[in-house]
Amino acid sequence: MSKPLAPPNHMEIDFSTVDNVLALVRARGGRATTSRRILLEVLFEAEGHLSAEDLTAAVQARAPDVHISTIYRNVEDLQRLGVIVHTHLGHGPATYQLASLAHAHLICEECGATIEAPDDLFRGLARTARAKLGFSIDPHHFAILGRCASCS
Ligand SMILES: [Zn+2]
Ligand SMILES: [Zn+2]
Ligand SMILES: [Zn+2]
Repeated sequence: MSKPLAPPNHMEIDFSTVDNVLALVRARGGRATTSRRILLEVLFEAEGHLSAEDLTAAVQARAPDVHISTIYRNVEDLQRLGVIVHTHLGHGPATYQLASLAHAHLICEECGATIEAPDDLFRGLARTARAKLGFSIDPHHFAILGRCASCS
């Protein structure tokens, strides 16, 4: 899995349109190709999270001649450029979204309910982990598993 070139600072990046994100791609040394534009359009219009398989189907629905290997390479490159991120929701495949939309999840192991968790939930943990262990947590990458209110 490739690492971002620089830690993406989402506050400074304008994710409001596909064109702005493509401008960011170019500013970070990437190419703004048609297949990348289509991938970003799919992510802008997506509701919820898309697996690599979902992304491939959605891109090829618009542009059938974009090869699956191009789509997968674009996904890797756009992650490296800090434009998109993936998250693991329990045991399913990794899912992708725009970096500006990244958020944390709590998943019930009993019923599978997924709760989107606000970042301030992790503030205390983040502070303690940094102070005691010098560790910076990333609450967005993996979901936290447990039991929801109706199952506990
Ligand atoms: Zn991962
Ligand atoms: Zn539950
Ligand atoms: Zn989510």
